[in-house]
Amino acid sequence: MGLFDRDDENQPVWINGNALVCPVCGNDHFWSRETQLNTAGMTFLGLDWANVSAQNYVCSECGYMFWFHPIK
Ligand SMILES: [Zn+2]
Repeated sequence: MGLFDRDDENQPVWINGNALVCPVCGNDHFWSRETQLNTAGMTFLGLDWANVSAQNYVCSECGYMFWFHPIK
């Protein structure tokens, strides 16, 4: 899973039983990707302690991107 790997299949996303809806355009279909948080950029920002991946969901209509950090 690379930094810019991308699932081009737009689909509804459910988070803890709640449908994800874009707050910008109201769309409910997203493509997803994982982003390593321990990148050089994050190290620059002082976040290199976060050796984890975030789950991103990107609105298929307007490109608004959600970031979900692992809870555990
Ligand atoms: Zn949108």
